Amino acid sequence: MNRIIRNTQQETNMSLDDTSHPGRPGPDELVPSRYALKVGEIDVLVVSDGVLPLPTAMLAHNADPAVRAAWLHDMFLPPDAFDWALNVVVVRSGGKTILIDAGLGADPDLHLPRAGQLIKRLEAAGIDLASVTDLVLTHMHMDHIGGLLVDGVKERLRPDLRIHVAAAEVKFWESPDFSHTSMPPGFPDALRSAAKRFVNAYHNHLRQFDEEHEVAPGVVVRRTGGHTPGHSVVRLASAGDALTFAGDAVFAVGFDQPDWHNGFEHDPEEAARVRVRLLRELAETGEMLVATHLPFPSVGRVAVAGDTFRWVPAFWDY
Ligand SMILES: [Zn+2]
Repeated sequence: MNRIIRNTQQETNMSLDDTSHPGRPGPDELVPSRYALKVGEIDVLVVSDGVLPLPTAMLAHNADPAVRAAWLHDMFLPPDAFDWALNVVVVRSGGKTILIDAGLGADPDLHLPRAGQLIKRLEAAGIDLASVTDLVLTHMHMDHIGGLLVDGVKERLRPDLRIHVAAAEVKFWESPDFSHTSMPPGFPDALRSAAKRFVNAYHNHLRQFDEEHEVAPGVVVRRTGGHTPGHSVVRLASAGDALTFAGDAVFAVGFDQPDWHNGFEHDPEEAARVRVRLLRELAETGEMLVATHLPFPSVGRVAVAGDTFRWVPAFWDY
């Protein structure tokens, strides 16, 4: 099934590449890659950076492989590897344009060519990089900062761009500990190098916060720790509506199996506590959730089902 979709998409892209669209930034894509909604007065746009095929063992390196295989089977997912979504959010509030995370960018060594689409898709959505006033980073893993490292991107950003990130995150990457993670070969080095290149390139733009910071009216970033020591979530609240962008605090498997350790988590036990606390909060308040790696457009709510949770996707609003 996956293979058929992929081939169709390649063929479609090829045929569209041959067609010129004067005045447009790039070829149209048949698969939607952005979804807009409002949270009170705040404009929100979820943009897909593409997908990231990863081995399924990374979903749960502390789980019995047979139980993990059964979960994948029940979810109609392939047993060995599947595509993680990669969502980025653009927020407009109080005259500011805020980008939350920046996608994977381009790292040819990791063979992930289907991710790293953010810059192209922002252009297709009519969002000029020079209009971005603030950037919020949930954490400094490559799939959240890599878009900023693509050739030519820094030059197109504003010289007064503010990048909000937890101080604990910047500190962590000075000497990162990978001893509790479980990643495919090559990933730890790639992540170390991306974080280093990011700090070198953008240190003048960094606005570090300790626990919490209001970036714009109703846009608050809050450190959770767990996934990485400075991992943060962003809560948007306006006129009685609220939505939390949870970064990597929640993965697709995290509703049924909140205690499963994801291979990218640097402190998996704390990450599980953070996840359960956040899901409980959201289930209680009924507020919306968007997370980096939930299936696009990743807008939904959380219900409690005994000791586990249930993901309730929002109905698309056309
Ligand atoms: Zn991630």
